[in-house]
Amino acid sequence: MNDLDFGTRNKRGDFRPRDAIGLPPFVSSSHRRSWANWFMDLLWPWNAVIIGISVFWWFVVVPDFETMKTFEFGWIARLFVAKWVALFLWMGVFEWRLYVQKKQDRRFKYNAKFPAEQPSDYFWFKSQNIDNFLRSMFVSVPICVAFEVVIFWAFANGHAQWVDASSWQVYLALIVFFTGAFHESYFFFAHWAMHWKPFYDWCHTIHHNSINPSPWTSMSNHPVESALQFAPAFLYLLVPATPFLAMHHLNFVAFSALIGHIGFDKIELGESRAIDSDNLSHYLHHKHFEVNYCDNGVMPWDRWFGSFHDGTAEGDRLMGERHQRKVEKMNAGKST
Ligand SMILES: [Zn+2]
Ligand SMILES: [Zn+2]
Repeated sequence: MNDLDFGTRNKRGDFRPRDAIGLPPFVSSSHRRSWANWFMDLLWPWNAVIIGISVFWWFVVVPDFETMKTFEFGWIARLFVAKWVALFLWMGVFEWRLYVQKKQDRRFKYNAKFPAEQPSDYFWFKSQNIDNFLRSMFVSVPICVAFEVVIFWAFANGHAQWVDASSWQVYLALIVFFTGAFHESYFFFAHWAMHWKPFYDWCHTIHHNSINPSPWTSMSNHPVESALQFAPAFLYLLVPATPFLAMHHLNFVAFSALIGHIGFDKIELGESRAIDSDNLSHYLHHKHFEVNYCDNGVMPWDRWFGSFHDGTAEGDRLMGERHQRKVEKMNAGKST
């Protein structure tokens, strides 16, 4: 495919899509999506795929709740190995195809360089790929599984209000449908807090070392950041729920992290077909730091709080103006 039919390339070769990032229908903007599109975005394709993973998990991977009444090596190891392998394949397939095999070369790639071309002292072994892989797979995945283990144990022992799914169908279905919007809303505020300088320097800087993210960057975090991201799953111990909801929430956070870190605007599926990867918003966050604290624009929190960048030259201009105002405010503060 010719990516220049869909956008432009600067002197360095970085790709920029022509279309602005769309906003939800309840925001005043010429780039707002229709209600039908927005509802579709809440489900398709990512949430639907992750719901499929969660259903598989529930019926194939999750051990019997009688067994999970006590902490035992066997069932905990089963959950760990399953999650590790699934996330390894999930991120690894994209990494392999786009960054190792380079199946579509640099077409649709936001940053013309590949991380392997940019060794840096910021990373373990000077390699972004090794650093991000180890942090994602050996820091964040164990935290996700540890939370899953505690939550399943709590449900197994009656420390939660486990409702009968057949009587609560609509309630449960709505929560699953809006899991992405809930995560996005929580993540906006948690992420914003992580950009408070002391918190950033201590914790979030590890994720931001990867200015040019790739799939292995998805969960390359300080352990506190990963714990913060997965923590809302514990809310399902406090409200009427089923363990499926908590498990799906953990799966959503873990699997959807990939979306913002693919690094390509479209993934080619052949000579003339491609799917949108929906990751421009978070790519811009890695590039510019103080924009787009939400992951993918399903919720308009950045727009409401003045940190939105829609990916266009106009977005650059507005970001420049915000930066200028900030500098002027800081200088005024120093001179008084
Ligand atoms: Zn990121
Ligand atoms: Zn950040």
